[in-house]
Amino acid sequence: MCGIVGYIGSREAYPILIKGLKRLEYRGYDSAGVALINGQGKLNVYKAKGKVSNLESTAEGCDTTGYIGIAHTRWATHGVPSQTNAHPHVSASGQIALIHNGIIENYATLKEKLIKLGYKFNSETDTEVLVQLIDYIQRRDSLDLAHAVRIALTHIEGAYAIAVVDTKHPETLIVARKSSPLVIGIGEGEFFIASDASPIAEYTDKVVYLSDNETASLDLRHGLTITNLDDVEHTPEIQTLKLSLSQLEKGGYPHFMLKEIYEQPKTIRDCMRGRVPESGTYIKLSGVEDNKERFLQAKRIIIVACGTSWHAALIGEHLIEDLCRIPVEVEYASEFRYRNPVINADDVVIAISQSGETADTLAAVELAHKSGAFVYGICNAVGSSIPRATDSGSYIHVGPEIGVASTKAFTGQVTVLTMLALALAKLHQTISDEKYDTIVNELREVPSKMENAIKLCTGMENMAKVFTYARNFIYLGRGYNYPAAMEGALKLKEISYIHAEGYPAAEMKHGPIALIDTEMPVVAIANSDSIYDKTVSNVQEVKARGGKVIAVVEDGDTKLSGMADYVIRTPRTLEMLSPLMSAIPLQLLAYYIAVNKGRDVDQPRNLAKSVTVE
Ligand code: GLU
Repeated sequence: MCGIVGYIGSREAYPILIKGLKRLEYRGYDSAGVALINGQGKLNVYKAKGKVSNLESTAEGCDTTGYIGIAHTRWATHGVPSQTNAHPHVSASGQIALIHNGIIENYATLKEKLIKLGYKFNSETDTEVLVQLIDYIQRRDSLDLAHAVRIALTHIEGAYAIAVVDTKHPETLIVARKSSPLVIGIGEGEFFIASDASPIAEYTDKVVYLSDNETASLDLRHGLTITNLDDVEHTPEIQTLKLSLSQLEKGGYPHFMLKEIYEQPKTIRDCMRGRVPESGTYIKLSGVEDNKERFLQAKRIIIVACGTSWHAALIGEHLIEDLCRIPVEVEYASEFRYRNPVINADDVVIAISQSGETADTLAAVELAHKSGAFVYGICNAVGSSIPRATDSGSYIHVGPEIGVASTKAFTGQVTVLTMLALALAKLHQTISDEKYDTIVNELREVPSKMENAIKLCTGMENMAKVFTYARNFIYLGRGYNYPAAMEGALKLKEISYIHAEGYPAAEMKHGPIALIDTEMPVVAIANSDSIYDKTVSNVQEVKARGGKVIAVVEDGDTKLSGMADYVIRTPRTLEMLSPLMSAIPLQLLAYYIAVNKGRDVDQPRNLAKSVTVE
């Protein structure tokens, strides 16, 4: 994780870097730091534990001048969050400063060698090894920075996006990447670099996404040069960025998370635009249309994902098996990649990741490719690593998600999976025209029903007050709403730090029912669906043991709501689309509880959004 940002040009770098760090803070906020080379060639480095605002206080009144600088917001992997371990790290010579996103796996061996060569280390990080190694190679072979960086990187195992500056060459900024993201922004006589395009968007729309094993030299005299680790130059592929600034602002909401919850009717419209027609029912997913044969050949689909995306994947499993009669397996990417899975050349592997940078999911994509499977990506961040590594895919198009807890990306993923299942069902002819039309027509109604779902949550803020001091929560659901229950529980855990579990309602009696007492809130999600009565019985079992039941039911429900202590209503829809409705109150419940507890909703402790480390 970690966010990195850099600038070289004719403006003061510091304000650009600080603003950029704030945009990237979702990636980590254990510490923040900045390195600037001032007009006299002096390197000034400022660091602070915690958030970027602490860094601003630390640097206040200090020399923050300079037209070149790099900055970092950290999600610690090696060494505690502290000022000493904060990036940038500086070489023993005091000449080179470096920021890093990723993990250097062989850092211990390299560190030992460098210590034998007389290097001293200040921090516990893996990163510091790299800056000292570059320093050593540069001096040993009298190389310029770009060459020294390239040689040093050939000794590195692991993942990195780095930016490096050298006080002797304030006209050049060097960057490199392998398995961690890095975007270069090209302005008029200036360059920007960042982990994603959000810090760049307000200055230029010309960007280059660096690929794995590439380094780039951003030089005010010679421009941009991209080189691979073998010293071979590439012509940069300049792309036009489509990112508006309003997408990166809170727009009057107290938190990004609340903005993103409320945005969902719009983001789901955006997600379906051009795919679900305004009239008629033909679903157009070009990723499927262009690869019909591969989908028709597939005897099995494997979906790999992590966290919230894994919950969306479980809903996708229901949808695809239900509509297409193709066996689907859902795997945690982190488990899949290390357990020698059976992957056949005629399998389709679907990789889901909001950021498109999730390290484990990316590794699972590579593994699937090695076995000859066709790999389809479902991601949000355009141009990110997974869409580039997959054979085809569909973006969810929900716009930047900045709150660390995923909300609109989850519903976007479920929407894409629904469209995918429908397109595949048509292709495999496993669905009647009538059923297909009914689902597509109902899917088109989802955005306006989501608007109603939001309206139906008006009492949520007050209800959340009742549960602010609960220590545990159980979320129950069945069928399509079992993954929805797990996602609801995850939201609560992530932002309120209350322990919560999502469970299939009928499994309660096989263990978790022992936890039920008068202190235990139980969120029961049930639609008037094929297993409604079964869920009602499961809730009765909870009530019989004194549990406090919060029922999430469809508008008009009487049975379950009659026995519940609290009722949240959602608009009626088809069973298979119901997770798109229940998601909203579950997100809002978690949100208001977390706000009442005074939690940092957008940047909960220990978490970061784009999990680029294993
Ligand atoms: N491994 C580096 C550190 O711990 C960078 C961490 C990251 O990118 O998440 O400081």
